[in-house]
Amino acid sequence: MRASQFVILGLGRFGSSVGQELMEIGCEVLGVDRDEEKVDEFAGSLTHTVVADATDEEVLRSVGVRNFDCGVVAIGDDIQASILAAILLKELGVKQVVAKAVTELHGRVLERIGVDRVVYPERDMGIRVAHQLTSPNLLDF
Ligand code: ATP
Repeated sequence: MRASQFVILGLGRFGSSVGQELMEIGCEVLGVDRDEEKVDEFAGSLTHTVVADATDEEVLRSVGVRNFDCGVVAIGDDIQASILAAILLKELGVKQVVAKAVTELHGRVLERIGVDRVVYPERDMGIRVAHQLTSPNLLDF
């Protein structure tokens, strides 16, 4: 059985963490970032890395995103880039698209354009920590 293949757009704290954990689990990961320094930083720990603009349709086509099992849009601050990258992944036929949202409204837009799963890393981690702090016997939430 072949390893699951993931493409991660944006190698900031969130994207790089998702990518590296997927590698630990045994998946194949292509990391894309427009910042060459980020790509250099993670080139050794991901299967493949590319310096590119994730909102460039031709780039996404040329790296063959449609062949990946899942695409993760890990761009937050630039909401426009996040939305463009997400819609391109959907249109190019990526089966499962996950995107990080920085605000509730950003998340609603991502849902509207067909993103399969929207995550709110800061909010979700805040909820998790609150539960851990009040339930000392709960190992994980
Ligand atoms: P994190 O909290 O995960 O560090 P952030 O929300 O603080 O992320 P962002 O501005 O979302 O930071 O950037 C995350 C990564 O996405 C950065 O490494 C940035 O270079 C990259 N990035 C942003 N826009 C694009 C784009 N259009 N194409 C490719 N990479 C991008």
